[in-house]
Amino acid sequence: MARYTAMWIDTHCHLDAPEFGADHALAVAARERAAALGVGRCVIPAVERGNFDTVRRLAHRLGDAYALGIHPLCVPEAQESDLEALDASLAAHRDDPRLVAVGEIGLDFFVPALCSPEMRQRQADFYRAQLRLARKHHLPVILHVRRSADVLLKHLRELPTGGGIAHAFNGSEQQAQAFLDHGFKLGFGGAVTFEPARQLRRLAVSLPLDALVLETDSPDIPPQWLYATAAERATGRAQGVNTPAELPRIGGVVAGLRGMGADEMQEASHANAWAALPRLKALG
Ligand SMILES: [Zn+2]
Repeated sequence: MARYTAMWIDTHCHLDAPEFGADHALAVAARERAAALGVGRCVIPAVERGNFDTVRRLAHRLGDAYALGIHPLCVPEAQESDLEALDASLAAHRDDPRLVAVGEIGLDFFVPALCSPEMRQRQADFYRAQLRLARKHHLPVILHVRRSADVLLKHLRELPTGGGIAHAFNGSEQQAQAFLDHGFKLGFGGAVTFEPARQLRRLAVSLPLDALVLETDSPDIPPQWLYATAAERATGRAQGVNTPAELPRIGGVVAGLRGMGADEMQEASHANAWAALPRLKALG
């Protein structure tokens, strides 16, 4: 069996986001801070055709990994031809060890503009087309799940893939089990750090240890210690910027909830990330 030194892996962060500066200078600085805290690898998912090249270049620059896909929030603006461009990019970079998944793809039934019957259908069409591409290119998928777990699962039953990660998972025990049965790991991040998130925190404890991966989803979903409420913002407290440097502390929270050591959580979540995204292994 291969020996390795356990590291924290941020399985989902948008380091190419505008919040990190047009030249990615803030992303580079945040990544260095994260590395100093033991974050050995980040996975940067694309959200639209326009950033396929950006996430690939950034992952290479940072020594990280990336995924290519069209995010459900980007589906209204996306063209059918973007799916062909995705297929072409997946083919062109098939030998790039840093390309580890198709993502971020999925369904979002939270944003009202995405919930009309036409938009639900359009989301489903893009999701299914991208599941087919994942199958064609033998890659796992990174799923965006927001009020959509059951419908995502229905399509997965028809188009099973090699698993992957249900990112920012926040569903029921049964839905969690269904994703696990399809070979998925469940991504836990900032949301689990909030005490009122009782159901999610219960799930983080009751799931088998090999079900969990960790993520920051930076710059979104800040953990509790960075979050400023509307009232606090009104008094001038700024919202903290969520970066991969928060990952070890998030891992520590999950470990604490489960009554285990942070080291053990680091080790387990590292192994789980490798299982979910097998190409990470080649990066060491
Ligand atoms: Zn995301």
